[in-house]
Amino acid sequence: MKKEILIPRKTIRARVKELADKISSDYAGKEPVLIGILNGVVVFFSDLVMEMNIPSKIDFIRAASYGSSTTTRGSIKLNKDVEIPIQGKEVIIVEDIVDTGLTLNYIVKRLEKRGPKSIRICALIDKSERRDEEVKIDYRGFHVKEGFLVGYGLDHDEEYRCLSDIYVLR
Ligand code: IMP
Repeated sequence: MKKEILIPRKTIRARVKELADKISSDYAGKEPVLIGILNGVVVFFSDLVMEMNIPSKIDFIRAASYGSSTTTRGSIKLNKDVEIPIQGKEVIIVEDIVDTGLTLNYIVKRLEKRGPKSIRICALIDKSERRDEEVKIDYRGFHVKEGFLVGYGLDHDEEYRCLSDIYVLR
């Protein structure tokens, strides 16, 4: 498979800074809990929290979907849960890429049961073509219509995660 550059590091860095500034101003005087969805989010997540200028707490959750690899339709299983208490807290779920929307909706529903004060969603990439379930993305880095993306934490069979730009596989 060939990879073509889609979003260069410089553009990613500038956009992540804008997202961090927006979150910092929206949550000024507050201390949100940022919950990253492993594994793909790690690179984006750490860049985002480093650019924010308000205090925050961080935790992670990992969900795997079981089904065919071409459709993420299927059951979702939680492999690692959030450990810090979120009751009464302002929660921001941070995701690398929203595709069908199933993973994110599953996680939102699960976290809502714990009584957070609010839940918002921050996603680096909103990939809209295969959206099955509506997802309200409050902080969106980039909109990409289609294609399989790798790099900047995103993988294909655990490859390409450590590239600093985002590529599309052809
Ligand atoms: P969803 O439940 O279909 O929204 O799946 C979202 C998850 O699928 C993301 O967190 C990624 O782990 C993975 N995913 C979806 N599209 C891509 C892609 O283009 N590149 C890498 N991973 C992807």
